[in-house]
Formats: sequence, structure tokens, C-alpha cells
Amino acid sequence: MTSITGDQALVKKINRSIVLNTIIRHAPLSRAKVSTITGLNKATVSNLVQELSDHHLVEEIGPGESSGGRKPRLLLFSGRAGSAVGIEIRLSQMIGVLTDLEGNILFEREEQLERHDLDFVLKSMTTLIKALMHEAPPSPYGVVGVGVGVPGMVDGEGNILFAPNLGWEMVPLQQRLEEEIGVSVTIDNEANAGAQGEFRFGAGRDAEHVLYISAGSGIGSGIMIHGELYKGARGYAGETGHMSIEADGMACSCGNRGCWELYASEKAYTQASPPLPSHRTRQLANLALAGDEDVISLFAGIGRFLGIGITNLVNSFNPQRVVIGGPLADARPWISSALEEVVAQRTLPYHRERMEITFAELGSRSTVIGAAYLAVSQFLGPVRVSTL
Ligand SMILES: [Zn+2]
Repeated sequence: MTSITGDQALVKKINRSIVLNTIIRHAPLSRAKVSTITGLNKATVSNLVQELSDHHLVEEIGPGESSGGRKPRLLLFSGRAGSAVGIEIRLSQMIGVLTDLEGNILFEREEQLERHDLDFVLKSMTTLIKALMHEAPPSPYGVVGVGVGVPGMVDGEGNILFAPNLGWEMVPLQQRLEEEIGVSVTIDNEANAGAQGEFRFGAGRDAEHVLYISAGSGIGSGIMIHGELYKGARGYAGETGHMSIEADGMACSCGNRGCWELYASEKAYTQASPPLPSHRTRQLANLALAGDEDVISLFAGIGRFLGIGITNLVNSFNPQRVVIGGPLADARPWISSALEEVVAQRTLPYHRERMEITFAELGSRSTVIGAAYLAVSQFLGPVRVSTL
């Protein structure tokens, strides 16, 4: 009979995860509403809510509206039951946040990154993580884990396979960091982390199928399907910056030609004519704000190319919402109309219906907040079943 017991334990674990995810996603809500959304019967919901409440993960607030009879008590996720550390490695900085379990930033700190050799980065990262952990308020679970977003390809074991901008290849970052800090570590690509950040706490909150495009020194995408990040067979999905948009276009460092990111990311600044004084989006945005025509038309050109790539992705994935994040989001006033025009002209009409294009709500913090969420999600349990 042990197999039946095993199955029952698994079913209970899955149901508990469904109930918890429902409360996280739809709170505040009553037990009856949880039952309606999940299809689980009221007694099961009540038992699981009791268990989650005993584990400090769910709490109740005062009576909600009633359609007659006793007013129901509403359930909330106890976001303060623990905290998490999120780290984003950029080219010249490392950003770190301490968040509660609901992505609210409790403390934030930034370190300059002068060098990229692994020992130096590990040492700075360890110092930053320890400083953030030191700020954690007392809570039942304390710091539940550390999540890191990196500009590169990451496998399922937390190894960085390739991060060209850092000059890293086959770096066992998760293992090295766990040895240093003694807390569980989760690593993912910066676009995947950014997609999680926006999906959970930003512009993708109320959508189910979201394409997050991170446009900065290159382009990467996080693809959320039915509320889950699509990672592909081995975890490398979303390298959309290397999709060809010009068959005989410029040669790319990846070996392909005409890659999207050569035309629609900060890489395009180097081909501007006349040459531009700066290659940083924020500085160029200041010039555009001051009316610099060359910069304004450069941004419009990038907007058009962003639109071409987004058209390909919209036709492939039929998302509800496209969220554009990363440093290029700072140029929104000058890229968005060109981008939207191209998407309106080129996307298949049925795909365009009820599809929105928007920009990251968490601004430059999508990735770091999403990285902290990776740790939270690891802590809350590997069984994540969509309840949407
Ligand atoms: Zn390429």
C-alpha cells in the first residue's frame, strides 16, 4: 500500500501548491473563492489553508463583502514570513536587493564591477550578499535563498555555459556561491529573471501568456506560457537576439548573419552615421530629450527593427502581452511609436487582436526583483501547477 500513500502525499503537495499559488495570485480572497478557482472542494481547501497558516505562509484579514449571511474572512499570502536576496550581474555593476516573499524591496545596494575575473566577481558578490542578508528583518523563515540573474546562457544546474560580455565559459556559479555563503542559490539568465519579475510583480501581473523582451547590450527574451517560463529542452530557449531578420545582414559574433540584436539593441549605436558621442542609452535619451535629431532618428530606427523581431515572435507565440524591458526601455518615448506602427502593419490580424505591447513597470529592477523571486519560488516548492 506504500505506493498509494506516496501518491496521496504527492496529491496533497500538489493541492497545497495550487492553493498557495491561487492565494498569492488572487489575494485577498475567501476560502470559497479559492475553491471556485481551483475546483477543489471546500473541506480540502479549509484543511490546506489551515496547514499553510500553521506554516506562517497564509494569514487572514477582516471580513470581506458578503452576498448575504456571515461575511467571509479573506486570505492573504504572508509575504513577510521570510525574505530573499536578488542579484543582477551587469557589465560594470552588480545590483543587489533584499525583498520580502512578495517582491517588495526592503533594502537595496549596488557595487561597481571593475573586473570580470571569476574570483573577483565571486568575492564582491559574497560581500554584497552577506551585507543584504545582514539587513533581513526577523521572520519565521529568515532568508530563504539567493537568486542571481546573469547576462549569459545558464543550464539547469546553475552553470553559466557562456557569458560573452563577461568572458565566462562553463562557470559553476551556483555551486561556488553556495559553498561561499551556505544558503541555497538559484541562477538564471537575466531575461528569464526579468520575465519572472514583470510577470509576478510588474507589467505582466494579470496576463497568462507574456513575452518579455530584454533589450540592452544585446536582446534576450523570457517566454511565459500558461504562467510558466518556457525554457526549452535544455534550458536555452529565448535567445531571440540571434534570430535572423536580414538574410544577408551583418555578421554576428554568434556565427549567424543579420541577427536581430545587431539592429535593435545598443549594438546598433556603433553603426550610427554620423557617429554618436555616446553609446549609453540613458545619455542618448538625454540628447533626444534636448531635441537632437540624429539621436531621435536613430531611436526610431531601432524601434522599427524591434517591431520587426516582435512581429516574428508574436506570430510564433500569440502572446497576450509583450513587455519591453532592459536599458532600451529608457528610450520608450522615441522608439514606441515606430515599433507599434511596424507591429500593426506586419503582424497577422488574429494575433494582433487583444494583444498589448507595453514597457517594464519595474524599470531597471525587473531582473533583480525577478532574481529574488527565483529564490522565493524555489523555497515555496518545486511543484508549481498553473491555476490560471
Ligand atoms: Zn547572432
